[in-house]
Amino acid sequence: MSKIYEETKFLMKKYGITANKKLGQNFLIDDNVIEKIVDTSNITNEDLIIEIGPGLGTLTKELLEKAGKVICIELDNRMITILKDRFFMYKNFEIINEDVLKVDLNRIIKENKVSGQIKNVKIVANLPYYITTPIIMKLLEERLDIESITVMIQKEVADRLTEIPGGKNGGAITYTVYYYAEAKELLTVPNNSFIPEPEVESEVIRLELRKKPVIEVTDEVKFFTLIKASFMQRRKTLLNAISNSTLNISKEKIEQILKDLNIDTKVRGETLTIEQFAEIAKKI
Ligand code: SAM
Repeated sequence: MSKIYEETKFLMKKYGITANKKLGQNFLIDDNVIEKIVDTSNITNEDLIIEIGPGLGTLTKELLEKAGKVICIELDNRMITILKDRFFMYKNFEIINEDVLKVDLNRIIKENKVSGQIKNVKIVANLPYYITTPIIMKLLEERLDIESITVMIQKEVADRLTEIPGGKNGGAITYTVYYYAEAKELLTVPNNSFIPEPEVESEVIRLELRKKPVIEVTDEVKFFTLIKASFMQRRKTLLNAISNSTLNISKEKIEQILKDLNIDTKVRGETLTIEQFAEIAKKI
């Protein structure tokens, strides 16, 4: 058994911890996975690492050795006690006991960058799977001043996030990710790399944030509403999906737009490229 497995078992026993399923608690016990996450994140002492859901602190420990600063955001206050006990001696350690979805990340990043010591901000996390999508959407849509997001998520979601728009694994979120970032799959992680074992396979992915979105879009709200509408009713043709949506546009008008853009009027939204969605949105 690995050292991390022994350490995890020891901490759980010492603090009387049983994993809380509702909080997506699956603790990493695989040294290779931790090494891969930390090494490929290229962490330096000019980096601020924001770790979401540090849990017992397995990844945190490695991050603290390399980063200029590590800010952990953890909801479960049982973990806060453990993390404080384990890392109080690290000057570069800070912890926030809060739901990550409620934290003002933009403010935290700005405050930390003012000092001058922090040049880059990176997000690193073994995410709680029950809120993977809202967390990723928050990190992207809030246009944070960050360089990359390296996260462990369920494999099925990873396939969707790293798909090319128009590809077979795509969903509405595929377009959002592609718009803001370049996505890479780093490593598939078997279920026995965690205690307790999750019911689904996992994967580590990295999103490298683009300096500016991949295409120019005049009205982002309309653009993303259009994409979401197309995927809400993905079995329908694009024509039917849009005309039944909140975009409030007649079937005839959309049909004309599609014809003008040389797009087959029987097409389903899921096969369109991001550029085609942008062109349709522009004409609506
Ligand atoms: N990083 C640890 C590891 O790799 O062993 C734990 C990862 S575990 C998959 C997810 C962690 O996210 C848990 O510690 C859980 O308590 C925490 N968590 C769950 N919901 C959260 C939320 N809304 N905000 C912040 N942390 C949350």
